[in-house]
Amino acid sequence: MKTLDEIAGFHGHICPGLALGYRVSELALRELGERDVDEEMLAIVENDSCAVDAVQVMTGCTFGKGNLYFRDHGKQVYTFIRRNTGKTLRISVDWAAPEESPEETDAWKKYSGGDRSKKVLELIHARKSNKIKAIMEAPDEQLFKVSHEPVKAPGGARIYPSLRCSKCGEKTMEPRMRLLGGEPVCMPCSDKAQEGAKE
Ligand SMILES: [Zn+2]
Ligand SMILES: [Zn+2]
Repeated sequence: MKTLDEIAGFHGHICPGLALGYRVSELALRELGERDVDEEMLAIVENDSCAVDAVQVMTGCTFGKGNLYFRDHGKQVYTFIRRNTGKTLRISVDWAAPEESPEETDAWKKYSGGDRSKKVLELIHARKSNKIKAIMEAPDEQLFKVSHEPVKAPGGARIYPSLRCSKCGEKTMEPRMRLLGGEPVCMPCSDKAQEGAKE
């Protein structure tokens, strides 16, 4: 299992979102078995927050491999499916951050207003560390609502032929092309042509 520090190496910083993604992935791996190598597992994520980077590094369900599906619902919900067994795990994050001190609330207000004084930064840093610690130490039941109801798995990653766009000449995956005057063009060129037609 990867550590939070290893994941931060990919993500760039340690933050509460990354810690949540760590906990989500840890549970997914515990329930569904080892990290994905070759698309045996897939993840459906319903947000594009920091947590998703942890999911990618830890579970091996990645954007590039095509077994990470992004549904832009703005929800902290993560569904994992193991393809061969159909076993599903839906994790809904339902966590209340620990109560913060009046000093922390005050520091956050100042920070949001652009204050970068040493005192404010120290409090902001402490506030963040406390959140991360609380997430890493909380039992699963305090962080998540979990269900195993089966979900229809999206199709596997597919490889399509590429054609040259008749406008810019760049190779483009065929199903993503549009027809312009009977010629295949890429989406950016199609959009540009349409904007031009409107003017
Ligand atoms: Zn982050
Ligand atoms: Zn083009």
